[in-house]
Amino acid sequence: MKRIAVFPGSFDPVTIGHMDILQRALPLFDHIIIGIGINSQKQYLFPLEKRLHWLQVLFQHEPRISIESYTGLTVNFCEQKSAQFILRGIRSSSDFEFEKAVSQANRVLNRRVETVFLLANPSLSIVSSSIVRDIILNGGDAAAFVPEEIEQSVRLAR
Ligand code: ADP
Repeated sequence: MKRIAVFPGSFDPVTIGHMDILQRALPLFDHIIIGIGINSQKQYLFPLEKRLHWLQVLFQHEPRISIESYTGLTVNFCEQKSAQFILRGIRSSSDFEFEKAVSQANRVLNRRVETVFLLANPSLSIVSSSIVRDIILNGGDAAAFVPEEIEQSVRLAR
């Protein structure tokens, strides 16, 4: 059976932290689906189409990574996609506490889906989409935190 993981997130925008987790997770799974979760309660800086497009550009030559958006529970999306794993990154103890609760709740909802955590690369543990958004909204240069291939497009999108 193929080992399929869903990497859920907002990717608003994708950062070098996300890229690092994905590269490190590739040897662990046969296929990774990047799932852009659509939460109607959440405000995003970048439209869904842009967030999808940037990920498609970044992984256009990686057949083992696909990109989709979804609504509803992540475990239900996993079930639809026959994914046995959820992939998440952990940067800090606050990430850990949050992820622990979500993962344990997900186990109650669906015992067939296991969450796999990768610890952030120490040099990237301060990188987050929210920092990138703050920098951009305040007119700064977020180039150091965004993949080079899409940096210009992210800058021009605002
Ligand atoms: P969410 O809003 O669901 O947290 P994000 O797009 O912010 O969505 O993050 C998606 C996943 O990527 C999360 O598991 C997050 O912890 C992980 N992640 C984000 N930045 C980093 C980083 N610098 N290092 C490791 N993991 C990261």
